[in-house]
Amino acid sequence: MKHQEKKLDEHTWIIEEYDDNVSVYMYLLEGEKEALLIDTGLGAIPLYTICKELTDRPIRVALTHGHVDHIGGTGAFNEVWLAKEDEVLYHVHSELNMRNIFTKEELFPVKGELLYFTKHMVFELGKRTVEVIPTPGHSVGSVCFLDKERRWLFTGDTCCKAHVLLQMEYASSISTYRESIQCLWDRRQEYDITWPGHHDKPVKKQIIKDFLEAADGILNGTMEGKYTELPMGKARLLEYREIGIEY
Ligand SMILES: [Zn+2]
Repeated sequence: MKHQEKKLDEHTWIIEEYDDNVSVYMYLLEGEKEALLIDTGLGAIPLYTICKELTDRPIRVALTHGHVDHIGGTGAFNEVWLAKEDEVLYHVHSELNMRNIFTKEELFPVKGELLYFTKHMVFELGKRTVEVIPTPGHSVGSVCFLDKERRWLFTGDTCCKAHVLLQMEYASSISTYRESIQCLWDRRQEYDITWPGHHDKPVKKQIIKDFLEAADGILNGTMEGKYTELPMGKARLLEYREIGIEY
């Protein structure tokens, strides 16, 4: 697995872990006192060393959700935060049979002990505040992170410029996903752009409205997905503008 780091500004980096088949993004946010790493990829790259070369601040880790391609590098870090609702998913996806789905390379260990977000939690990094926004849907414990001063929203797999996957085990209903997306859209004055876990980046925030309209369409019966053979197996797929919902 390869990796590359790019500076988004003087105190923020995107780290990509990738090969020909898969690509995931992590984000390292540096405040005056601490740094926050959002997601940890597949665990096939020396993530701790990479982060330590970028920042000398102590690093906490916050996960957008418990899927195997976001939790892989957690083992090297002291403090790893996740939504309690994704606890079971995290441990299921920590097993080697799951971790080997994306790569057969040797993998760094996954952390066993986690900390769980509290209600209305914010990470105070020192002149940089990152709020945890619960957005159940893609998994029951999915969250987004609002970097308040930068006006950036980190969205994990909740609203990439691609399909959102709601057909998987430990996902929520479409109506729950719709509520999460509505919450993000209601707060759209608080951010200018979104940074996803995969695919095109950054993503304009209007994409959230597309997800909202598609979810509404499914729920009120004006739109309907067609049963389709998809990478995750057969499921219904509704394609709408630049996004899609698999359910
Ligand atoms: Zn995911």
